[in-house]
Amino acid sequence: MERYDLRTEPSGRKRLSVPYRGTRLLRHPMFTKGTAFTLEERITLGLEGLLPHAVSTMDQQARRIYASIQRKPDPLEKYIGLAALQDRNEYLFYRVLLDHIQEFLPIVYTPTVGRACQEFSHIFRRARGLWITPEHRGHIADVLRNAPFEDIRLIVATDNERILGLGDQGAGGMGIPIGKLTLYTAAAGIPPWQTLPISLDVGTDNLELLEDEFYLGWRAPRLRGDEYDSLVDEFVRAVKARFPSALLQWEDFKKLNAFRLLDRYRKALPSFNDDIQGTAAMAVAAMIAGARATGVPLRNQRTLFVGAGAAGIGIARLLRETLRKEGLAEQALTEATAHMDLQGLLVEDDPTLDPVQRPFAWPAARAESLGLTPERRRDLAAVVQAFHPTLLIGVSATPGAFTEAAIREMARHAIRPMVLPLSNPSSKAEARAEDILAWTEGRALVATGSPSDPVRHAGREHRIGQGNNVFIFPGVGLGALVSEAREVTDGMFAAASRQLAAEVRDEDLTAGSLFPSVTRIRDITAHVAAGVAREARMAGVAGRILDDDLLPGVIAEAMWQPAYLPADPAPATALGASPGSAMPVFI
Ligand code: NAD
Repeated sequence: MERYDLRTEPSGRKRLSVPYRGTRLLRHPMFTKGTAFTLEERITLGLEGLLPHAVSTMDQQARRIYASIQRKPDPLEKYIGLAALQDRNEYLFYRVLLDHIQEFLPIVYTPTVGRACQEFSHIFRRARGLWITPEHRGHIADVLRNAPFEDIRLIVATDNERILGLGDQGAGGMGIPIGKLTLYTAAAGIPPWQTLPISLDVGTDNLELLEDEFYLGWRAPRLRGDEYDSLVDEFVRAVKARFPSALLQWEDFKKLNAFRLLDRYRKALPSFNDDIQGTAAMAVAAMIAGARATGVPLRNQRTLFVGAGAAGIGIARLLRETLRKEGLAEQALTEATAHMDLQGLLVEDDPTLDPVQRPFAWPAARAESLGLTPERRRDLAAVVQAFHPTLLIGVSATPGAFTEAAIREMARHAIRPMVLPLSNPSSKAEARAEDILAWTEGRALVATGSPSDPVRHAGREHRIGQGNNVFIFPGVGLGALVSEAREVTDGMFAAASRQLAAEVRDEDLTAGSLFPSVTRIRDITAHVAAGVAREARMAGVAGRILDDDLLPGVIAEAMWQPAYLPADPAPATALGASPGSAMPVFI
């Protein structure tokens, strides 16, 4: 493991201590500046003759590489090009990503990352992150010791079973933790050397992968039951021992494991599940902002969910807590939402309900009183006709689930219906934004999970907001880290959601968008982080108490900037081995 040493001069200027020279330095993605090394640095760092003469500015490098990535016609080729840049030069990668965040977010994350996961074993170039398989049982802590850097603060771990809406992707799911951590660095400035993507590769039940000769994962059916639980348990203990200051994000686990692991470990180490809690904060923020736009207070909105999985239940839980704080009584809380899953409307006498769905089921008598016979409960348009939702949320990963009949029916009862087909990638969305606007005569406020182009309807352009968790999880992570939170509470997500809603400007809403522009992501993240840190302090889980007036400065200081630093050879002590590293330096 390596250390990454930044030094701050008395003037406040930062400098980088470089433990390598020559080609090894040039090829190190965290230390290299490529053609931007100055002539003096080339002398002190053994680079003379290894680079063409001219010294580029970072801006020139960024424009050069952007032009080359733009020339690639296919999004997956762009993904491969950007991943290769990330493997070569991380400073430059983040500079290019931040300069073109709107354009590249759909490449480094959904929808393109979905294809990258599906084709992982065929497009594989270079390994990133750590894979833990059942063969590492008993020495997972040793495997963690192989992480590239020693001061890890943020881990995203998946067991690959529910990758976006694409199901079990086996080892290919690694694209998601890598992508999520990339967004953490882009949005929250978490230094790349403090992040670690981890795949808990416990096998796959995806037969196509098991039969693919190129498949790179642990080729076996998924581990289940006690064997699975004990492996995860050892992993958590190893993380606590190796990286005691790290925050762990559970990512893309299948529903019941997602809830189980969240509940089991949330007090054992600072941890959260973005699919459940991050999605919830993102969606509730849109609801709060939408209430402003429609003039109908949140407590008077009726929300219909299509999909009662991790995302649907996560959103429902936070919405219920938010409404409870607004003073809604228990019966009103039950009546404020309706939930559909594969079997149709969830009602209490259904023996197939799982424990996380049960609290949101309607009494069967209520369904009957609204004319929803067991037959009609399966029909979205019929449920809409009975319930009159003002808000429709799609988290079912079922394309076409929002039918024209259902949306037209919704528009008969709501002046400005809010329709959020959130399933990812775009191929799984419940409906397309342009269809929803057409079926509602342009009255709907639409947000999609993956990016959508603006839609022209009746001569008016509608901006389609992206319900992207990137507005939430980087701020939650940063807020938790700066406040050294012992636990990531639901209240911290509620705070994040209120803060994000406040970031939605009137001009966003007027343009038709329930979300702010992603081009403001760094500012938004800083504000979300401040809200989260404040809540951590008030909830008594902060290890570092930061007063409100100090918070913005501390957060700004914590956010890494992708700008090259003056580089010096590591101090003479490094002539042996760099601290904490088995690697010789100055070779
Ligand atoms: P999940 O598998 O836990 O839940 C999906 C649920 O939908 C399951 O309960 C399933 O039975 C149900 N379902 C399937 N077909 C249905 C149908 N025709 N009608 C009603 N219900 C149906 O998955 P999840 O984590 O809840 O994610 C669901 C989708 O939401 C995925 O596509 C995911 O990418 C997307 N998502 C988007 C965001 C975002 O936009 N920011 C965040 C989280 C999840």
